[in-house]
Amino acid sequence: MCSFSTLAISCPEHARLEDEYLQARDRMRNFLTGSREAAGLRLGKVRRVSRFAAGKDKEEQRLADQMAMAIARLKEHIAAHGCER
Ligand SMILES: [Zn+2]
Repeated sequence: MCSFSTLAISCPEHARLEDEYLQARDRMRNFLTGSREAAGLRLGKVRRVSRFAAGKDKEEQRLADQMAMAIARLKEHIAAHGCER
């Protein structure tokens, strides 16, 4: 039930969508941290290498899309239910 905006999250769907978003955000964060470290090890500073970056950019784009979709679903749900914290 999402009738009262003062309630903590008691909506399972809201909790699920929020969890989905947090997981997507963590994957994105881990990916960015990992690729930055790899670039640092290889180059000594952050610089893009086209061949190396091509595959990474696709993965980064995929993760960014997942995160954006999770945010959109969560916002949509909040708008529909008014069950934000
Ligand atoms: Zn809800």
